[in-house]
Amino acid sequence: MVQIHAVPAFQDNYLWVLSDGRRAAVVDPGDAEPIQRFLDGHGLALGAILATHHHGDHVGGVAALAERWKCPVFGPAHDGVEGLTRALVEGDALTVPGIDYPVEVLDVPGHTAGHIAYVHRGAEPVVFCGDTLFACGCGRLFEGTPAQMSASLAKLARLPGPTRVYCAHEYTMSNIRFAEAVEPGNRALAERKAREGAKRERGVPTVPSTIAEELATNPFLRCAEPEVIASAERHAGRRLAGDVEVFAEIRAWKNRF
Ligand SMILES: [Zn+2]
Repeated sequence: MVQIHAVPAFQDNYLWVLSDGRRAAVVDPGDAEPIQRFLDGHGLALGAILATHHHGDHVGGVAALAERWKCPVFGPAHDGVEGLTRALVEGDALTVPGIDYPVEVLDVPGHTAGHIAYVHRGAEPVVFCGDTLFACGCGRLFEGTPAQMSASLAKLARLPGPTRVYCAHEYTMSNIRFAEAVEPGNRALAERKAREGAKRERGVPTVPSTIAEELATNPFLRCAEPEVIASAERHAGRRLAGDVEVFAEIRAWKNRF
């Protein structure tokens, strides 16, 4: 039975450790030190490293951990991540060494050009989506186009509703404040704000969420909803033609919110 643990790092990153109680794998180890401390504290041996994209807060600890544990490093084929032992593209599947955990790869470009996500389709489905889909938000478009990011988010949105969404940052409350500006009439959003706010008051992570929660509340997955379209058009001051234009407008709005 694999369990997933959040290891906080930097200001608001979550580094994810998967463990069967004896062996472990880590997703997006931006910093080696807190991961090594977690492994030591729980008596775990690291068997694999998985990266979603090349940003330093996701891969900064890869080299030191790979050197210490001599373990394989999996990551995107087209995102400039150094030190990979296996480069992955959409459709690739692997069983994470050590913990016997099957994952499939999705290409989700937009935040970076070659960003990937890891999907586990077991009885408890999971996606590790890095900085693509956030709880009630999405990543900035550093290297991709709105059309690419929109298609990547749509791909994630098609995962089964119960799929737990392990994104890489605790941005949820500020994302919810923006979502309220876009969709003030969304009751599920108001309920989510109360629920997630209570978690933050107790110092509990709001991540993971589920795909079903994101579909109900995340404006970036709701670009075909009338209220989202109306807000985006009001903000743009013009009519918008289709989901991608609506997505581009609210992404640009969020950048300055
Ligand atoms: Zn990033």
